[in-house]
Amino acid sequence: MNIESKCLYSGYSPKNGEPQALPIYQSTTFKYASTAQVAKLFDLEEDGFFYSRLGNPTVNAVENKIADLEGGVGALMTSSGQSASFMSLLNILGAGDHFISSGSIYGGTVNLFNVTMRKMGIDVTFLDNDASEDEIRAAFKPNTKAVFGETISNPTIHIFDIEKWAKIAHENKVPIIVDNTFATPILCRPFEFGADIVIHSTTKYMDGHALTIGGVIVDSGNFDWTGSGKFPEYTTPDESYHGVVYTERFGKSAYIVKARVQLLRDLGCVQSAECAFHVNQGLETLPLRIIKHSENADIIAHELEKHPKIESVWYPTLSSYPYQDRREKYLPKGCSGVIAVKIKGGREDAAKFIDSLKMISLLVHVADIRTCVLHPASSTHRQLTNEQLAAAGIEPNLIRLSVGLENTDDIMADITQALDKI
Ligand SMILES: *Cc1c(COP(=O)(O)O)cnc(C)c1O
Repeated sequence: MNIESKCLYSGYSPKNGEPQALPIYQSTTFKYASTAQVAKLFDLEEDGFFYSRLGNPTVNAVENKIADLEGGVGALMTSSGQSASFMSLLNILGAGDHFISSGSIYGGTVNLFNVTMRKMGIDVTFLDNDASEDEIRAAFKPNTKAVFGETISNPTIHIFDIEKWAKIAHENKVPIIVDNTFATPILCRPFEFGADIVIHSTTKYMDGHALTIGGVIVDSGNFDWTGSGKFPEYTTPDESYHGVVYTERFGKSAYIVKARVQLLRDLGCVQSAECAFHVNQGLETLPLRIIKHSENADIIAHELEKHPKIESVWYPTLSSYPYQDRREKYLPKGCSGVIAVKIKGGREDAAKFIDSLKMISLLVHVADIRTCVLHPASSTHRQLTNEQLAAAGIEPNLIRLSVGLENTDDIMADITQALDKI
């Protein structure tokens, strides 16, 4: 099947007389007739559900769908994108280890890496998204165990050169994790460019309707955990799980099984059946939505560029966007709905513009079916002075616009009337 059909059919195939729509298995636990059978489930000798912290049929169906969309061997849904980022790394690194990240990533992920994970003894080096091959190579240390980047970065809209970073990660025998939230597997499939692990905040386009917080980790099955001696957790017995050796027992699925039976078991940041059901509904129409979001954003970006009250627009399909080669390579079908816009004027003018919008909503969110805006200088970054904002690379007149599925004439009409107020 092609990806549009997989969005409808992967993960769940009802048998004769069963519900056509994926059922919500609203149950913490599952009933068995014999202790011997439950023992087999606990020993991971048989597949089956026993407690929804470790697995639930609704959640599992959606996991299998997302794994299929990305072209991976397995997936694990989590309670949020944040927990997916965290667990994707904690499944590889521990205290005393180090990883390398592109600096063009989501602000919440920067905090996680720079503050919380450092407190746990996990060290990170941030590199410029455009770092040269030599600069990336020079950042590796003996204890470096992973590389991380975002396909399309939130909110700076940079494109991560997955193939380049993957090549250098693999020269150093470490896996590369790509946050594919904004692109979704419809616009880009990072495994095709050498990524080993993909994560998503399903809160964004996968759900797409502003209903549920969630995340997912997808395993390509391609990374060799055995060769380098760097990943003993994979190749030696896990005493917390009856001495299982993940690479021996689970082969290509070692990473994603370990994430579930070790980390999800212990941390408990699990996705609920009902939220997974909503994500599944989002996935069914994702191919239509993400293409339309991209088309609408392309139209709005070009219109805004011509508007006299706009200072600059940053979107990959504009000729002013400097990374055309990366756009053509990684995002040939579209670049999502998110645009960065600077209006002429300062912090107050940007705020006045946003307060004058009628249809478009002011939200701390992106990637919704309804167009929304965020003004970092008066919300997420409001405690910063103009000088501090500049240091953080966020201008006081910067607005993040997430273009929805409305008629673009209506979106432009609202933007134009609000610009007229300043
Ligand atoms: C929103 C977001 C996250 C965090 O996801 P939550 O679901 O809000 O926890 C991570 N990465 C990217 C790119 C995001 O946009």
